[in-house]
Amino acid sequence: MSNYQDFEDRHIGPSASDEAQMLGVLGYSDIKKFIADVVPENIHIAKQLKDVLDGPKSEVDVIAELRQIASQNQVFTSLIGSGYYGTVTPPVIKRNVLENPAWYTAYTPYQPEISQGRLEALFAFQTVICDMTALALSNASMLDEGTAAAEAMTLARRSSKVADDAVFLIDKGVHAQTKAVVATRAKPLGITVLEVDSLSIPSGTSYFGLLVQYPDTTGAIVDYSKVAEAAHDAGALVIAATDLLALTLLKAPGEWGADIAVGSAQRFGVPMGFGGPHAGFMAVRTGLERSLPGRLVGQSVDAHGNPAFRLALQTREQHIRRDKATSNICTAQVLLANMSAFYAMWHGPAGLTRIAERIHNYAAQLASVVDTENKSYFDTLTIKVADASVVHAKAKALRINLGVVDANHVRISFDETITDSIFASITSIFGVKVSPAQGSGIATAIKRTSSFLQHPVFNTYFSETSMLRYLRTLADRDLALDRTMIPLGSCTMKLNATTEMEAVTWPEFASLHPFAPAEQTQGSRLLIDQLSKWLVEITGYDAVSLQPNAGSQGEFAGLLAIRNYHDSRGDASRNICLIPSSAHGTNAASAVMAGMKVVVIECDEAGNVSLDDLKAKIADHGNTLAALMVTYPSTHGVFESAISEICALVHDAGGQVYVDGANLNALVGTAQPGKFGADVSHLNLHKTFCIPHGGGGPGVGPVIAKAHLAPFLPNHPLDALAGPATGPGPISAAPFGSASILPISWAYIRLMGGEGLTHATEVAILNANYMAYRLKDSYPILYTGNKGLVAHECILDVREITKESGVTVDDIAKRLMDFGFHAPTMSFPVAGTLMIEPTESEDILEMNRFIDAMIAIRYEISEITDGKIAVEDSALRHAPHTIGTIASSTWERSYPRERAAFPATLTGLIPGELIGMKGKYWPTTGRIDGAYGDRNLVCSCPPVEAFA
Ligand SMILES: *Cc1c(COP(=O)(O)O)cnc(C)c1O
Repeated sequence: MSNYQDFEDRHIGPSASDEAQMLGVLGYSDIKKFIADVVPENIHIAKQLKDVLDGPKSEVDVIAELRQIASQNQVFTSLIGSGYYGTVTPPVIKRNVLENPAWYTAYTPYQPEISQGRLEALFAFQTVICDMTALALSNASMLDEGTAAAEAMTLARRSSKVADDAVFLIDKGVHAQTKAVVATRAKPLGITVLEVDSLSIPSGTSYFGLLVQYPDTTGAIVDYSKVAEAAHDAGALVIAATDLLALTLLKAPGEWGADIAVGSAQRFGVPMGFGGPHAGFMAVRTGLERSLPGRLVGQSVDAHGNPAFRLALQTREQHIRRDKATSNICTAQVLLANMSAFYAMWHGPAGLTRIAERIHNYAAQLASVVDTENKSYFDTLTIKVADASVVHAKAKALRINLGVVDANHVRISFDETITDSIFASITSIFGVKVSPAQGSGIATAIKRTSSFLQHPVFNTYFSETSMLRYLRTLADRDLALDRTMIPLGSCTMKLNATTEMEAVTWPEFASLHPFAPAEQTQGSRLLIDQLSKWLVEITGYDAVSLQPNAGSQGEFAGLLAIRNYHDSRGDASRNICLIPSSAHGTNAASAVMAGMKVVVIECDEAGNVSLDDLKAKIADHGNTLAALMVTYPSTHGVFESAISEICALVHDAGGQVYVDGANLNALVGTAQPGKFGADVSHLNLHKTFCIPHGGGGPGVGPVIAKAHLAPFLPNHPLDALAGPATGPGPISAAPFGSASILPISWAYIRLMGGEGLTHATEVAILNANYMAYRLKDSYPILYTGNKGLVAHECILDVREITKESGVTVDDIAKRLMDFGFHAPTMSFPVAGTLMIEPTESEDILEMNRFIDAMIAIRYEISEITDGKIAVEDSALRHAPHTIGTIASSTWERSYPRERAAFPATLTGLIPGELIGMKGKYWPTTGRIDGAYGDRNLVCSCPPVEAFA
């Protein structure tokens, strides 16, 4: 044994005696007996995880092993380009954002009053994208450049009026991985993609969209203004995949006629990370806002008339619109978008331009002495050489990677990290001498003349002191896991341990280019192999791909595997996807992307999939049944004992079973979807396996399947080792998706070992049942399984309370903020309810604090039903209370000020010792009026004229 406390005891909140106490409350003396009553016997795991997984290892040993793995990566200077560039993450941003739990442990800002910090940062991100692209509206990030281009294609299809059989055109100069991601997405939708030279599109071509790269993948800068005119005449939309740094010097896409701009904000301060995560982006011209995919931050007003941020136009999104949504995106790339916004603030418009000019200057010096294919360029040159292999060998000897083109060309992309000494190595590779005299690669007609980033937020935080304080100010506005439990049903907000996070910023993982030669990335590949193997052992499946960079993308990949499997057996007519009414919105949206038709299955009174309805729908659809997509344990928080029977019914009818693995936190070590009848799942490493939520991303959504679907898992045109040759193509831009955050999940599994992981699940289920037990007299628990127990989460039914008192789930959620808590999941999967998931990481004190707050709120509700106060006058309806309201000289409320601000103390329901544990959190805005913001859409900082 080591000298260190077992990590398991650090990760799991309750102590052994707390565990015994909670079991006692529930009438058990043994956790295994308790679990046996929760998890149906017919699905209970056969092989204990402790017999198939190594570990546990101490934190010290795990870091040592990770160091060893990291040392098997070789960090060269990668000048490969193709959408990934070296960048310098400003240390003030690295430490205070990327490595700061106040930022990385936050949840998606669905509760805006406690999320103003990250919402302000995302608003700035949107402003950066709008300003640089000169388009009207940007969303708050996409998953990567490739998927952003694919989403732009479907946006164009929705918006263009040209004939249904019109094609989508991709310019030959688009990055290879983007072309491939678009092709993967187009196929199931029946969209024909043609590669063209956009300067000579055959006349008479009927097309609804054209995707160009600006500057293109060879480095050339093409003036597409005529192309855009012609496209518009043809009724098509023009999509520019572009580069934010280049746009400091180039005429913006919105200025030459692009309707949509997409790209990656990676080189704005986010490490390459072997491919991700980074913030993709999308901006659109006016008129396309309601068709935009992804999250959008808008400005609205709060109850006091003050400006405040919140998510806008959510009616486009999967969680409301389901199979009619503009996209399946849920988790996006918030943490990385924020980093890029801060990078833009740190450098400001002048600093960014200086960086771009320096890069361009290096390119220009080299261009003047080598034989370049592209006469125009920003940072990238495609260079003719006698023998490319000789040049690559010389570069390798100097630890430099150049882009591979063909036998007689190499490519080089300059970036922010180039120094004079690296440049000297570069000139020696090409055997040339440069002189300072050089021209420009940017024609005058295409030079940028418009200003950008004039808003004060981009012109203020230039000293480290001021930036540090700005970051702190924003972080202080938000409630993240570093302050309070975030009991979000379905979203598993568990501990993101410091040791797990540590390797993310090590250069051996952070500085790898995704297309670096495989021999330089052996460490990462080993880590990926090991993690893959462990996930397979845990789930009982046979094969996995870590490429999907969110759960939604894993869903798409899994459904695509099902579709291609059917096709491979001559069953192409199978296109019906059965989805229970309780499913997450991404399920339906993903099914549509995979070219399937959604048929909803009803749930019965107990919250289970209605077997009668399932049988009826299976019979209705006969041999067009493609799949059933079901979450297990269900989104209702129960283990349905009929799951094996459900799987068998679908299989007997020739369908495949997709189990949404978002609830794997109840299954690890207790049951295995790969063994109880499912064919494929996605996992959410940012839920079950400790990758932090980052305020709404990043994530990793591996798709994991039985052997018969393995040939249909994602692959990648630029990395033969990233998937089966028979795969459908890439579904993310990078071969291994968000590779740089995989060490987090790797470390978690290594630290816990099989037994620890199993124990974590058991405690997650115990915690949920303890909370359900303690809350059930105040709020009825909507669904329970046999023996009256829930799984790892429980739903509080507030509908009757609302009927009696007028108090809504919203009121409760906002009042919780006054207590310093983040609300549970609201109105999913059932409207008018709250879903609570404590996870194993919350200790009994924190759970008790939350329970007591909920009981105190119930007491306030009873004051309304008892006629002591009207709901309109209650603290519940006026919540949350800002310090401004409390400190104002007038107080005309029907309840005391003290009660408003310090509800815990005054209701007398929370024991004294618990109150003193935490400082008072002040929500920074009053309740926000979402509808106002949707009517008056403001999604980026006003231009400087507004301040004149
Ligand atoms: C979180 C979740 C998803 C989607 O995962 P993302 O990573 O956010 O795309 C799908 N299904 C369920 C049940 C979920 O809870």
